[in-house]
Amino acid sequence: MTESIQSPAELSSLDYRLESYAGLLRSFREAGYEFGSFEGGRPAPGEILLRHDVDLSLDRALAMAERERELGVASTYCVLLSAPVYDLTRPRNLRLLGRIVDLGHDLALHFDTHRYWSPTADPGRAVIEAKATDELDVLGRLVGETPSTVSFHIPPEWTIDRSFEPFTSTYAPAFFSEIGYRSDSSQKWRSTDPFGDTLPERLQLLVHPGLWHADGRPMGEIVDERRRRCYGRVDDFFDPLDAAAGEQ
Ligand SMILES: [Zn+2]
Repeated sequence: MTESIQSPAELSSLDYRLESYAGLLRSFREAGYEFGSFEGGRPAPGEILLRHDVDLSLDRALAMAERERELGVASTYCVLLSAPVYDLTRPRNLRLLGRIVDLGHDLALHFDTHRYWSPTADPGRAVIEAKATDELDVLGRLVGETPSTVSFHIPPEWTIDRSFEPFTSTYAPAFFSEIGYRSDSSQKWRSTDPFGDTLPERLQLLVHPGLWHADGRPMGEIVDERRRRCYGRVDDFFDPLDAAAGEQ
């Protein structure tokens, strides 16, 4: 079967089907790009650092990781240590992470500064480093190896274009302002041109796995579904307590 592959620069929109994502990866390959790792430092010319912030679903992350593996693409999955959407202490979820690593991808911490500090008040480099290192250590104990990369969740201004000593920040200048940077946030590629007319020589590409499904479902539907699952977990916790109280 011959497939016609469109250059990423020729795309006018994307429909958020997982297969369209696979097509996008193939088109970058066809355009001569290689996929690198944050652990390799500033990307070389023709290199893409593909990053995934796992905000919504570890299952979607694994589905994306498997598709990437089929295409021979390696990427970095950044996971939240504490979020209502998934619990990393659950053995099932740790097994999902293990499978992502076994597929050849890197793990990183998706660090939520908003849990600790106001987005308008810079706590200072040392304070950020200490708290992020704490979370990296906990993640390391859970998964068996301490990651060295951190991506900030909904990054406050004081995390942008800043380097940190104990870890690699995906928003450090070498990975952000000094190279091309594109993201699929809020499914904006449905209505905006994802890459413009020219492709950058070096690129960090942020793709949120939870936004891509087999059927390309819209953002609102995805968020509703995730919210229902969270409510379900709250019910699972409280229902037995409620029942026990009723029996007294
Ligand atoms: Zn995030």
